[in-house]
Amino acid sequence: MGRIIGIDLGTTNSVVSALENGEAVVLPNREGSRITPSMVGFAENGEPFVGHQAKRQAILNPERTVFGTKRLMGRRFDDPIIQNLMPRLPFTIVENKNGDAWVSVAGKNLSPQEVSAHILGKLKSTAEDYFGEEVAQAVITVPANFDDAQRQATKEAGRLAGLEVLRIVNEPTAAALAYGLNKREEAVVGVFDLGGGTFDISILRLKHGVFEVLSTCGDNTLGGDDFDQTILQALIDKFYQEAGIDITGDKMAIQRLREAAEAAKCELSTISETNINLPFLAVGSSGPKHFNTTLSRSKLNDLVYGLVQRLHEPCRQALQDAGLRRNELDEVLLVGGMTRMPLVREQVQQIFDVSLQRSVNPDEVVAMGAAIQSGIIGGEVREVVLLDVTPISLGIRVVGNRFSRIIPRNTPIPARETKVFTTTENNQDLVSITVLQGENELADRNKPLGTFNLTGIPQAAAGTPRIEVAFDIDTDGILNVSAQDMKTKKSQSIVITNAHGLSSEEFYTAKDRVQATVY
Ligand code: AMP
Repeated sequence: MGRIIGIDLGTTNSVVSALENGEAVVLPNREGSRITPSMVGFAENGEPFVGHQAKRQAILNPERTVFGTKRLMGRRFDDPIIQNLMPRLPFTIVENKNGDAWVSVAGKNLSPQEVSAHILGKLKSTAEDYFGEEVAQAVITVPANFDDAQRQATKEAGRLAGLEVLRIVNEPTAAALAYGLNKREEAVVGVFDLGGGTFDISILRLKHGVFEVLSTCGDNTLGGDDFDQTILQALIDKFYQEAGIDITGDKMAIQRLREAAEAAKCELSTISETNINLPFLAVGSSGPKHFNTTLSRSKLNDLVYGLVQRLHEPCRQALQDAGLRRNELDEVLLVGGMTRMPLVREQVQQIFDVSLQRSVNPDEVVAMGAAIQSGIIGGEVREVVLLDVTPISLGIRVVGNRFSRIIPRNTPIPARETKVFTTTENNQDLVSITVLQGENELADRNKPLGTFNLTGIPQAAAGTPRIEVAFDIDTDGILNVSAQDMKTKKSQSIVITNAHGLSSEEFYTAKDRVQATVY
């Protein structure tokens, strides 16, 4: 088996790690940085460039710089999250012919998988430079509450970049693995992961090399970008008050303000007040207007109060699902750049009433966990067992638009569950199975993953046929569903693969483009 790399494919930043002499090391990219911004810029001729190079030119080229693609992965164009995101982005999101959310950039429509594949391609070549050999296999992490379509899209991005994705691991589980690998004592650990685009909380029991996830919960729509957006809006309002100019439509000015907002947020993690100084931000009737203002930590805390409150409910749910009270955790690991913010730390302490574990590097620990997982697969790391769970309930639609759960959330994976259903009409010879993922009792409020028919059911009165529906979920959290008429033994099955995937033509066109790129 060749070398396997571990990748944290983040909303804002990505990191690649690998085992070297049994230790997970973070690999520096060609620019000498251990972190690669998850940004892809496109030249006028469509040629992509990735990471710091893309970030540096984002202000000059806002419409041709794509960031935060992780938020688009595996989502439909009409998804409210996408609709909400669109007005905030300097680049354009379009609907592809299947109804999925793609980006339109430099005259081309690109899938989020293809954009992510460029980031993965850069990380792959970072590892190849480091080891001086080709690398073709990877373990990639995803937020624990990523649904099936998002996991599939991540695997597809890997394939586009020429990487065989051996395992998809949940980010908090990876973090716990990196943190707890050499600890032998028993502990119940919370992993609180607030990154650029998502929030995850997982609770694990660590016991003699067994990492058992007890519960996981989160919010796929809450991350540092939302904090930046809130600060950005306040700055736009302030500039309007001071200069009388609404710069909402000026993409370049907005990009400058967005970067200043993020920088101020980060600085306010260590100092109590910072200056925002942007000369020539706009031109008014009386000439150029400069923007010079201050932001204090307490003002920042007021602005983001509503966002921080949203951290509470997933934590309460995770505790309840794990059957634990708030002070029963031994420690909480902080993961993701946003956990550097003092207000976030205060909330974590308040929620769990526990000491915070500061020994891990919040930016690198997830990728290191992915590298350790690659060592488990490759046989280099022994005596470690990882027991993960499925984060979101899976089931099917039944009569009356109801959702019938077959695998409830927080079921350990891999898992197989079956449930018997029947017909609702006399002589019904076909049942249509709609596979759903979500927590709502109403079927149409959950995410459809795929539909298939079981045909040829022998004539019978309503309610007499017995149709067994089986759900199999593998260690990547990916689902296979089958239905069998128990009388005739006839069955139909689907692997929930391409509900949102690329067609084979789209795949090969994108793959050619990605693999022709030199990073
Ligand atoms: P990640 O996805 O883990 O790389 O987290 C990136 C997010 O963390 C971005 O929203 C960053 O702005 C934010 N971040 C990074 N450093 C800090 C800091 N010192 N204080 C507050 N937020 C930070």
